[in-house]
Amino acid sequence: MAKNLKKYRADFPILKQLVNDEPLIYFDNAATVQKPQVVIDTISHYYEHDNANVHRGVHTLAERATEQFEATRQLVADFIHSKSADEILFTKGTTESLNLVAQGFAQNRLKPGDEILISIMEHHSNLVPWQQVAQKTGAKLVYVGLTDDGRLDINDARQKMTGKTKIVSLTQISNVLGSITPIKELTRMAHHIGAIVICDGAQSVPNMPIDVRDLDVDFFAFSGHKMGAATGIGVLYGKNTYLNDMQPLEFGGEMIDFVEEQRSTFKEVPWKFEAGTPNIEGVISLGATINYLKEVGMVNIHAHEQVLVADLIPMLKAIPGVVVYGPTDIEQRSGVISFNLVNLHPHDVATALDMQGIAVRAGHHCAQPLMKRMGVSSTVRISLYLYNTLEENQKFIEALIATKEFFKNGTI
Ligand code: PMP
Repeated sequence: MAKNLKKYRADFPILKQLVNDEPLIYFDNAATVQKPQVVIDTISHYYEHDNANVHRGVHTLAERATEQFEATRQLVADFIHSKSADEILFTKGTTESLNLVAQGFAQNRLKPGDEILISIMEHHSNLVPWQQVAQKTGAKLVYVGLTDDGRLDINDARQKMTGKTKIVSLTQISNVLGSITPIKELTRMAHHIGAIVICDGAQSVPNMPIDVRDLDVDFFAFSGHKMGAATGIGVLYGKNTYLNDMQPLEFGGEMIDFVEEQRSTFKEVPWKFEAGTPNIEGVISLGATINYLKEVGMVNIHAHEQVLVADLIPMLKAIPGVVVYGPTDIEQRSGVISFNLVNLHPHDVATALDMQGIAVRAGHHCAQPLMKRMGVSSTVRISLYLYNTLEENQKFIEALIATKEFFKNGTI
């Protein structure tokens, strides 16, 4: 049975405040999650005791900083079950990780007529980089469609994976619909036709156990800030053979072995991809986050979110005028729910909820082609995390009903 996560809520100091005179309900976790005290303390401790640049110094502080920095690489490797720490590159986040694969790896391999396969529900950061690569190489960007309930259409994917498909890049969880894509099955299909598979794990790593070797993906990208770490730190996992084939996009200090006047040699993977002084604080905060999430348990987090979603969706659907998007089968979704209230603009709904202390997101969620496919310009999005509760669900529903009444009558 999954663990009760109630006691962990107290670890998040930001949640103890009032917003607009109401206890804060933070339902915008797909954008970024709140930080547990242990992560905040780890960052302070680093600056109070260990701050130094990594890799270069022989003094005690530099050694301490380097030791924590490289220990985190191993923690990340273990957390996502990669073979070794040298398959883990630190980046600014998912966006940078995906750009690095697109420009440093795929761009050198693609030729006119080749195809890049993504889905229509990709976040812009797993879409715009591929448009750029397609424009530069003459490759074609092909989209897998969705089922009517907002899941990736496997049959469509099967049909679109042909001898021309060289790259398949898919999100494991949609940041709009919450749908979970069976990446392992799709990877098997893609490898069968000889394509390279890239997975956008921005929404999955924070919310479920990840095993990159079991998924067998060739690259895997995610962001620390969506898990509990600082902003500006992310990861690109890549299989060794492919990382050795990838070209760095940035050159300078830290990534070189020897520099002569006219040429240089570079360090090995992964360091040749980490030019300049890295985000040391971010990396160390990621290490503390992973230790924290391991203590809570990724299986428990996933189960907790499914309990919350299973509670919330029927209550939402019971409100006249609410349209909920995404899979009806709870097993196929994570803690993200998009909806609209007929005749109300999502921004008005979000503003009215904020007046009642509830943080949700309204807009296109960096997924404009998906919005077009759904026939809407924007949605309201609730996204849940380990510290959210059934009581918050209840208060949210009451606030949403009050919001609806407000726009009818003019008072909350
Ligand atoms: N992919 C998905 C599915 C996301 O939800 C996000 C963040 N909203 C990103 C990519 C981009 O992440 P970041 O902004 O941290 O680079």
